[in-house]
Amino acid sequence: MPQSSKPPQIVIVGAGTAGLNLATRLSRRLGQAGKAEITLVDENLSHMWKPSLHEFAAGTKGFDEEISLLEHSHRNEYNFRLGRFTGIDREKRLVELQAVNDPSNRPLAPKRALPYDILVLAIGSRSNDFRTPGVAENCMMLDTPAQAKRLQAELLNLFLRFQTGALGTAEKLELTIIGAGATGVELAAELREAAGQFARNGIHKVRRPDAVTIRLIEAAPRVLSALPETISAKVARHLRELHIDVMTGARVARIEPGSVALADGTTLSSNLTVWAAGVRAPEVIGQLDGFETGSLGRLKVRPTLQTFADESIYALGDCADCAWPAKETSLPPRAQVATQQAEFMERQIVAQVAGKPLRDFSYADHGSLVAISNEGAVGSLMGKAIGTITIEGWLARRAYRSLHFLHRKSVLGPWRATMGSLLGGASSRIRPKLKLH
Ligand SMILES: Cc1cc2nc3c(=O)[nH]c(=O)nc-3n(C[C@H](O)[C@H](O)[C@H](O)COP(=O)(O)OP(=O)(O)OC[C@H]3O[C@@H](n4cnc5c(N)ncnc54)[C@H](O)[C@@H]3O)c2cc1C
Repeated sequence: MPQSSKPPQIVIVGAGTAGLNLATRLSRRLGQAGKAEITLVDENLSHMWKPSLHEFAAGTKGFDEEISLLEHSHRNEYNFRLGRFTGIDREKRLVELQAVNDPSNRPLAPKRALPYDILVLAIGSRSNDFRTPGVAENCMMLDTPAQAKRLQAELLNLFLRFQTGALGTAEKLELTIIGAGATGVELAAELREAAGQFARNGIHKVRRPDAVTIRLIEAAPRVLSALPETISAKVARHLRELHIDVMTGARVARIEPGSVALADGTTLSSNLTVWAAGVRAPEVIGQLDGFETGSLGRLKVRPTLQTFADESIYALGDCADCAWPAKETSLPPRAQVATQQAEFMERQIVAQVAGKPLRDFSYADHGSLVAISNEGAVGSLMGKAIGTITIEGWLARRAYRSLHFLHRKSVLGPWRATMGSLLGGASSRIRPKLKLH
């Protein structure tokens, strides 16, 4: 880092699980003490906890948990810049941002470039369509809050059309999710919960148990193929109890309007199709000049989380390909990884600014939990004292929710996170269990 009397400019791109956590930590440690200028960039004005997107999409959770980045940056004394990251001028040390327009295509923020001394990329991941024909045109995805809002609106309109007869003579609704990883499984269970709530809230036609088919299609031989078989078997049992049709070993050949075509020639009709078959790095990562990419198109990073191309540029979270020596593979794109890397990066950047040696990141796997609708979850917890234990039900759901609470505690502070959680719990008892508008 060049020596100068001005505090170093630290720019973090992406205000998601990793980026918002890191910006909050660095503003407390360095920004507020005048030891660095912290700037956070995102293409959206608000932050939502991505692992809850399936609940927002199903309408079982309200959008009141969004965090305004304007308010958060003001409260925590860092700069927030609205902009879409498109590239880096490494010679001039500039982050390039594309203009952002409003829905009527009027400019909100112009094209511009921000200077940096240290740059951190935390732009997450996008759904991977594996170049399957028809996905972009005919599927909904669950990568962003905007997509979750669109899915919630589509779902509500679909159930309304079914009830009013606007859907024609259809006898039942068919909802298809492609990909039985954690996102697909959690969304399927949440949609079953939503269908029950629709039935209780005026959409009488779906009171018949067979009125809504929810189908989960997976190419691998079992659901949650990345997790241990014991968890996969327990989750499959829960899905059967929720009357979700699970089709494993089924490869999707193409998606057409109103149907899904499988490689074995079967065609399944579908009123709403959601693609959740895995993720990859956003396209812009592959367009960065001189950077090495690895698995899922992610930016390859050293154990210090610095990129191989440039020591003053770091990457973390879903967009980074970081080695996992214990398993001889790369770390998976998960909130647990993004959170641990953000905590590590705070110490790393504080050390770098102070001219101290950098350390290597080491990941501690605390297990995996998959939520099965409102009250249940299944998964494993791992730790030095307990080894590996499989848990399910209420206890698993508490453990699942604790990851979100810890995130809110990091970005909002303990008092606001606790108050938010208490008030949220109280308001969930009086507001409708499903968003119906
Ligand atoms: C439905 C669902 C359920 C999940 N459940 C779990 C779970 O139970 N447990 C778990 O560990 N993980 C879960 N995950 C995965 C988890 O959400 C991600 O691993 C985690 O959010 C990654 O954090 P991140 O900070 O790298 O990226 P994100 O949280 O995705 O944040 C990326 C940020 O970058 C911004 N951005 C993207 N591109 C640009 C650009 N070009 N310019 C400016 N800004 C940009 C985005 O707006 C966003 O704010 C789930 C994911 C989904 C979709």
